[in-house]
Amino acid sequence: MDSLEQFREEMRQWLLANAPKSMFTPVRSMDDLCWGGCKAQYPADVKRWLDVMAERGWTAPTWPKPYGGGGLGKAEAKILSQEMAKLGLRAPLVGFGLTMIGPLLLQEASEELKRIHLPLIVRGEIRWCQGYSEPGAGSDLAGLQTRAIIDGDDFIVSGQKIWTSYADKSDWMFLLVRTDPTVRKQDGITFLLMDMQSPGVSVRPIQLISGYSPFCETFLDNVRVPRSQVLGKVNGGWAMAKALLGHERTMIADLFKDRAPGNPLLELTRRYIPGSETRVADAILRDRIAQVEMDQACLDFTLKRSQDGMKAGHKPGPETSIFKYYGTELNMRRRELLVSIAGPQALGWEEPGFDEGELTLTRDWLRSRGNSIEGGTSEIQLNIIAKRVLGLPD
Ligand SMILES: Cc1cc2nc3c(=O)[nH]c(=O)nc-3n(C[C@H](O)[C@H](O)[C@H](O)COP(=O)(O)OP(=O)(O)OC[C@H]3O[C@@H](n4cnc5c(N)ncnc54)[C@H](O)[C@@H]3O)c2cc1C
Repeated sequence: MDSLEQFREEMRQWLLANAPKSMFTPVRSMDDLCWGGCKAQYPADVKRWLDVMAERGWTAPTWPKPYGGGGLGKAEAKILSQEMAKLGLRAPLVGFGLTMIGPLLLQEASEELKRIHLPLIVRGEIRWCQGYSEPGAGSDLAGLQTRAIIDGDDFIVSGQKIWTSYADKSDWMFLLVRTDPTVRKQDGITFLLMDMQSPGVSVRPIQLISGYSPFCETFLDNVRVPRSQVLGKVNGGWAMAKALLGHERTMIADLFKDRAPGNPLLELTRRYIPGSETRVADAILRDRIAQVEMDQACLDFTLKRSQDGMKAGHKPGPETSIFKYYGTELNMRRRELLVSIAGPQALGWEEPGFDEGELTLTRDWLRSRGNSIEGGTSEIQLNIIAKRVLGLPD
């Protein structure tokens, strides 16, 4: 047996011995997963699974060991995710720490910042949120107005962020602030790391059309942030912001990889379209399902190729806009299709008359409308692809 196969076997045995039984069951929603942080309480099995995996650094398998990661090479990390997928094991930890700010810290931070923040992310002790958008700065992110003024060893930050996902559940925020209003707008921005417990920070949840309330308005009133918490250089935050968006866009597309066991489209067809037990009875529907499945397979393979590249050290570039655009548009198409298969049964808001699965179909469909907005709208992704990937003129 070669060493990788031996590693696979040992890892599999270790996973089987250490994962609580309930972690082998699929999640119903992202909220069933562990997002970490000081503000949440998790069921005992979820916490135990987080702790045993974090102990080995396998919540962040490829991050270097000195920062709490698993120190695994590309091939070993691939084996870990393959074995977890085969066993149907849940991820022990998810969140913006692992997928967004962590990778950026690894790429860009000083040794001191890495040692402070990365181990807390790996152990799920700190949950992060993203303070980019403002009431007057979404697509035109560089137009942000939240001011930060130097005062001794601190910045004093004042302004408002909006659409801050999970701000009410997070412990730290990475945010963009204006530190020089006199220069070209991209050149006066700084990237800060801020403790959400700091005096002057307040959050107010916003409710979505789906009934969920995943994000907040965040108000910053003379908040002191130590200058030691600048990532990159003062007024050099735009480069950091763009690098992070690369990680974010890949993460968003990755969310729409078809992970659910079975095939929900076919299962729903069998349930709601009479005569579809062995073959989808309606030829047009059959074609739509086949097209979505083929497009999903293409996206999955392309994402996988890109992720292998990143594990080999490639930085995410403007092509991540393709993943974000395609992944989210495909997810919206899939949700539309699921709703049209279930027909009127997918138009319920509460019981009676609709079961839990049907109510989830409706809410997930409504939630998917935000996919083409979060992380940069579809129109903005198309602009980036046209300009920076295809090299078309402005
Ligand atoms: C579910 C969800 C979660 C989010 N989470 C976060 C978060 O955690 N942190 C955070 O900071 N932000 C978050 N956002 C905010 C998101 O990044 C912004 O909503 C997005 O960037 C769009 O900005 P806007 O809402 O101000 O729309 P606008 O920028 O005002 O755009 C309005 C419309 O105009 C179009 N448009 C604008 N400019 C152009 C152009 N140049 N060319 C063509 N069309 C254009 C847009 O595509 C859009 O259709 C989240 C949003 C959603 C929906």
